[in-house]
Amino acid sequence: ESVPVITIDGPSGAGKGTVARIVAEQLGWHLLDSGAIYRVLAVATQHHHVSLDNEEPLIPMAAHLDVQFEISSQGESKVILEGENVTDTIRSEEISSLASKVAAFPRVREALLRRQRAFSVAPGLVADGRDMGTVVFTKAPVKVFLTASAEIRAERRFNQLKEKGFDVRIGRLLNDIRQRDERDRNREVAPLIPAEGALIIDSTSLSIQEVVNKVLSFANGKL
Ligand code: C5P
Repeated sequence: ESVPVITIDGPSGAGKGTVARIVAEQLGWHLLDSGAIYRVLAVATQHHHVSLDNEEPLIPMAAHLDVQFEISSQGESKVILEGENVTDTIRSEEISSLASKVAAFPRVREALLRRQRAFSVAPGLVADGRDMGTVVFTKAPVKVFLTASAEIRAERRFNQLKEKGFDVRIGRLLNDIRQRDERDRNREVAPLIPAEGALIIDSTSLSIQEVVNKVLSFANGKL
C-alpha cells in the first residue's frame, strides 16, 4: 500500500522517459513507462484490424492486452506484444499519433488502471506519463511536471528518431507534437495538467543531469 512513488508527467519530448529511467536507476526503484502501454495497445489495434472509430471493441483489448516489459541481457528494455518484439515499432510517428487517439477513450484508460498500479512494488516506483500524479498514483509523495518548448521537444525527437534510422522531417514533427499536445491537453478524461503540489520543471535550457538533480533533491525533501 505505502510503496513510495515518484510521478513524472508532461508532454512528449520533455525528457520524462530518460529522466524517469535515471532516477529509478539511482534509487534502485522500479520504472513504469505508461506511454508504452498506450503505444502497445495502438499496435494491437493494427494487428487485429480494429478501428478507432468506436470505443467498445477497444475496452476488452485494453483489459486483456498481452504485453511484457523485459530487460535484455545487455540491460536494454524490451517491449513484447503477444510474443512479438515491438520495442522499435511502438516508437514510430504513426504509432505515437494512434496511441494518443486510443488514450482519449475514458473506458480504455479505466481498463488500464489496474495494470499500471500493479507496478508499484517495493522498494518504490518511478512512473512517467500524462496522468501519473493526477489519476493513477494520486497519493504519490513526489510529483513532478516536466515541460519544454514545443520547438526543443521536436528537435529532441528528431535526433532520437534519426538515431533509430527513421526518416523524418522536423517541421512535420513539430506539427505532430502540437497536435498530440492539443489532444492530450484538451481531452475530457485525464487531461495533461500538473498535479496539485507538483514541482514544475521547464527543461528547455536544462541538461538531463540538471533535471535529474532537481527531481532527486525535491524527492529527498519529501521521502
Ligand atoms: O509518453 P508517450 O509519448 O510514449 O505516450 C504516447 C501517448 O500515450 C501520449 O501522446 C498520450 O496520448 C498517451 N498517454 C496517456 N497517458 C499516459 C501516458 C501516455 O494518455 N499516462
